[in-house]
Order: sequence, then structure tokens, then C-alpha cells
Amino acid sequence: MTKIAFIGLGHMGLPMARNLLKAGFELSVYDLLQTAVQQLVAEGARAANDAHDAVHQASVVISMLPASRHVEGLYLGDDGLLAYITPGSLVLECSTIAPESAKKVHQAAVKLGIELLDAPVSGGTAGAAAATLTFMVGGEAQALDQARPIFQAMGKNIFHAGSAGAGQLAKVCNNLVLAVQMIGTAEAMALGVANGLDAKTLAEIMRQSSGGNWVLERYNPWPGVMETAPASHDYDGGFMAELMAKDLGLAQETAQASGNSTPMGALALQLYRLLLRQGHGQRDFSVIQQLFGGPRHSTDDTA
Ligand code: NAD
Repeated sequence: MTKIAFIGLGHMGLPMARNLLKAGFELSVYDLLQTAVQQLVAEGARAANDAHDAVHQASVVISMLPASRHVEGLYLGDDGLLAYITPGSLVLECSTIAPESAKKVHQAAVKLGIELLDAPVSGGTAGAAAATLTFMVGGEAQALDQARPIFQAMGKNIFHAGSAGAGQLAKVCNNLVLAVQMIGTAEAMALGVANGLDAKTLAEIMRQSSGGNWVLERYNPWPGVMETAPASHDYDGGFMAELMAKDLGLAQETAQASGNSTPMGALALQLYRLLLRQGHGQRDFSVIQQLFGGPRHSTDDTA
């Protein structure tokens, strides 16, 4: 059975690693925080002392870290993890990072005879738990063939976006659209409720009309509309606003480099920065609802 090292067991990494265990893979796991490690040990994983220990004897390494600096910090440099991974192994780098950063790590891996795919995901924590994630993969098709059974244990849709960095590019474009949908939905929900509409009724009308989108289907930002959405749990868990701001920053950097005009993405980034300045960075990104007025505002208005 393939031995997998899994590094980064946060909101996404923990449920992804859990699905690999369920599928019968042998896992060694590592995170800077012990809580998630211990949960997985109780489910059959081996706790590694550090990242170097995690990759010992592993033929596949998966990382799910916050941002480019964490990924470059983990893999590159004299004491970086690449130097400890057995040549011929496969690295699946699933974090959302800058396409340029993904290419840099890819090149360093190839020099050492290690295959590396950038494979960011979409589907949120619910998709990670249900093993229905979408993987957007950049790198060699042959490496993807090898990785496919592992991706299939964690996800449903697996796309080959192109060469190294292409998976990250696709992810950056996707999250730009997601942020714009989230902001537009939050704005419309606030407008409707402030003018007397019932939140659930409005959400259902828009969901089934031409305004329908992924946010209205799965992730409504108005508390109480969807029991399973982070909005109904005080915006806890899910996808942190600071990570969405990071992804919108990546979209702007990419647009700057290619000379593209991305005004909606630029505005979305500014709104998320404002939200972060207000102290909401660690809450789910649907907390942007509060910029436009949430349920408390509408109650205040009628009181
Ligand atoms: P998170 O902050 O919950 O998890 C990151 C984990 O990495 C943390 O547990 C942290 O302790 C660990 N970590 C950081 N540096 C480390 C290191 N050097 N060694 C070991 N562990 C380290 O973030 P998340 O929500 O799980 O997101 C992870 C990535 O997936 C991000 O790039 C994010 O943009 C992307 N993503 C998140 C979602 C989502 O819904 N949360 C969806 C799609 C993509």
C-alpha cells in the first residue's frame, strides 16, 4: 500500500487526510498544531515528529498549507523538505499559492528527480469532508495518472489544467469569481431583507432564478438561511477571510503581470481588506455579509 506523508492538517487538510485513511492508505501526518495530529492518530495515522520525519519512507507527499511563503519555506532551501524526499517520489502540493511560486517549487523538485503537481482544490470544508473536492492540476500528465487514485479518494472532479503552475492559475480565476459571487449575494441579501423580504424566501427565489450561483446553492452568507453554512455558526470554520484576501491578491498579481484588467477582483480585494481591518480575518469569508448589514442590523432597524 502506498505510504503517504500529509503535512498541514487545518480546515481542509484534516478531512482530506481522514478520507485517505478511510480509503486504506498508510499515512504519516504532521502539523505545527498537535490537535489535528492526535485526531488522525486515533483514526490510524502515524504522528511524525516533524516534516522530515513525516516523509521518511513515504513515496507520496501531500501538503495543504496556507500560502506561498509556507510552501516555499517547507520545500526549498538547504534544509528544505525536497532534500529529504526520495527521488522518484511524487509530491501533490494542494495549497492555493502563487502560480510563480508553484513553478519555482516544481523546478526545484524536478532537479532532484521528484515529480511534483500543483493541485489546489475547490469545494470547501464540506467538499473535503465528503470527498467531493475538485482538483485543478498543473504538471505532467503521467504524474497525474499516478496520482489519480489518491485524488479520487479525496475528490470527485480531477482536471488537468496544463503544465506546472496551471492548476494554481485556474484556482486563482475560480476564487476571483467566487469572491465576486459572495459579495454580490451578500449585498443583495442585505438589500432585500432591509426592505422587508424574508431572508429564506429571498434566498430561494434568487437560487432558482437567473441570480442563482454556487453561494446561493451551498454557502448563503445570511445566518439561518442554510443550517450547514458557516453563516449559521457565527461564521466559524470554513474558508478564512484572510485566505480569500490572499487569493484575490494572487489574482491581482497575475493580472498585473499579464496586463489584464480585473476591476471586479480589485474591488473584491479592497472589500476583503476592509473586513480584515475590522478584525474578521480568521472568520469564514461569508462574514463579508456584515459589511452590508446582517440580521442584527435589520432587527435594530425595526426595533
Ligand atoms: P488552515 O489555516 O486551516 O490550515 C493550514 C494548516 O497548515 C494549519 O493547521 C497550520 O498549522 C499548518 N501549517 C502551517 N505551516 C506549516 C508547516 N510549516 N508545517 C506543518 N504545518 C503547517 O487553512 P485551510 O483552510 O485548511 O486552507 C489550506 C489551503 O487550502 C490554503 O491555501 C487555502 O487557500 C486553500 N483552500 C481552502 C479552502 C477552505 O474552504 N478552507 C478551500 C479551498 C482551498
